[in-house]
Amino acid sequence: MARKEIIPKKHAMPCQTPAERVKNFAEVALGYSEQTAMAEAARCLQCKRPTCVDGCPVEVDIPGFIARVAAGDFVGAAQRLKEKNLLPSICGRVCPQEDQCEARCTLSKKFEPVGIGRLERFVADTQLWLEPAALPPEPPLPPASGFKVAVVGSGPAGLTAAGDLVRLGHRVTVFEALHKAGGVLVYGIPEFRLPKAIVEREVQALQRMGVELRTNFVIGKTETIDELLANSYDAVFVATGAGLPHFMNIPGENLNGVYSANEFLTRANLMKAYRFPEYDTPIHLGKRVAVVGAGNVAMDAARTALRLGAEKVFLVYRRSHEEMPARAEEIEHAEEEGIDLRLLTSPVRILGDKENWVTGCECIRMELGEPDASGRRRPVAVPQSEHVLPVDTVIMAIGQSPNPLVPATTPGLETTRHGTIVGDPETGKTGKRGVFVGGDILTGAATVILAMGAGRKSARAIDVWLRDPERKW
Ligand SMILES: Cc1cc2nc3c(=O)[nH]c(=O)nc-3n(C[C@H](O)[C@H](O)[C@H](O)COP(=O)(O)OP(=O)(O)OC[C@H]3O[C@@H](n4cnc5c(N)ncnc54)[C@H](O)[C@@H]3O)c2cc1C
Repeated sequence: MARKEIIPKKHAMPCQTPAERVKNFAEVALGYSEQTAMAEAARCLQCKRPTCVDGCPVEVDIPGFIARVAAGDFVGAAQRLKEKNLLPSICGRVCPQEDQCEARCTLSKKFEPVGIGRLERFVADTQLWLEPAALPPEPPLPPASGFKVAVVGSGPAGLTAAGDLVRLGHRVTVFEALHKAGGVLVYGIPEFRLPKAIVEREVQALQRMGVELRTNFVIGKTETIDELLANSYDAVFVATGAGLPHFMNIPGENLNGVYSANEFLTRANLMKAYRFPEYDTPIHLGKRVAVVGAGNVAMDAARTALRLGAEKVFLVYRRSHEEMPARAEEIEHAEEEGIDLRLLTSPVRILGDKENWVTGCECIRMELGEPDASGRRRPVAVPQSEHVLPVDTVIMAIGQSPNPLVPATTPGLETTRHGTIVGDPETGKTGKRGVFVGGDILTGAATVILAMGAGRKSARAIDVWLRDPERKW
């Protein structure tokens, strides 16, 4: 048989140009056409033992759905994809595929891997806006088990667990503190990376499957976990995420004009500050902004600041370019948009005027010294390299801790010194009978797909536990 000729590079993702996109909040990446998707799918080697699947925490049959795209059977591809992934339009946009499925693609030994994320997005989007009646029928649900499960938090961990539990025959209610479901997908990740209408659509699909959603319901205040268990729920899955921002504890962090990235992004995304005056929820932002950090959160804050009208945005990070933890595509997009990366630089003090408004951010240059216990070279301050970035807004994006309310109001739940709830990493089982945990509240701040994988594992474990007549803990 003639050997297949491999196209060495992924088909490029069409995008708005940098000059155009910094002036709007519309999606940056525009998605593959049918023709491009089929051509990209044809790059897949259809390996007998597909290692890409091992890199997917929700175990999508990647070669299976890609083969259908290559054949032009997009409905079949979507069905195959949705068997394992209940939020595919979201994952296709925000998963760090380069570290997961695509990192294990056989092609990547010699060439660029297959654009699995781009194909996932394409396939999911072909179905996204269809009327429910036009969608292929969902597989029938099993007979009702009679058990009720409460899911606390509607981020990717909670939504995945909820969908899987309904598919296993249980009645599920998701309790969400905010007025909208989606967790970080709605309050953190900006519109230009993940349009909120998409999250809403995927949540609606779960509701059609039978998931009940109760918003504006703060577990630990409106009701406690113990009350849920005492009232009518047989098990509880806690997926409250990591939404508590970190600060550097340097002088000046209490000045006007200093934000945590969480607050800044929540105001912009969930409260729709970018649509002021249509929405009466404006945000105060200066003209020169420093964002501290280099993960996805920092990239999102920097690029949002630019779109809200900042003339200059610095991104301050104490390590090197190679060590920036954000997705490769986000770093590339941020650089294209003109974000000024100040690498090997760390803030030491935020300066303010008499009215306590930020006037600058004093920084010091760093160099990489001896490796620390983890093997990473430790950044060390270069003496007398202090300098001032003239900014009027500083956004701290240096990490988040778990939300503390549920552990604080639930006797019997053990926490680590980082504030995460202690649970079995394979099942999410905690030390408290009937309570399981997963996502960022178990692992600390991680990724969408890992949170979804945790939701899936816990749903299976909850199902096994509920059906066990002895229910040993
Ligand atoms: C700005 C930003 C950008 C990111 N970008 C990416 C990316 O590009 N790719 C990626 O893979 N990951 C990204 N991440 C990380 C990813 O979003 C998280 O790892 C993931 O959302 C964790 O999912 P979760 O379900 O555990 O929690 P969350 O998404 O945090 O959801 C938790 C939910 O629980 C609710 N809640 C909290 N306490 C209570 C309570 N007491 N009662 C009821 N509800 C409660 C919260 O309101 C929230 O809705 C990003 C994170 C941020 C902040």
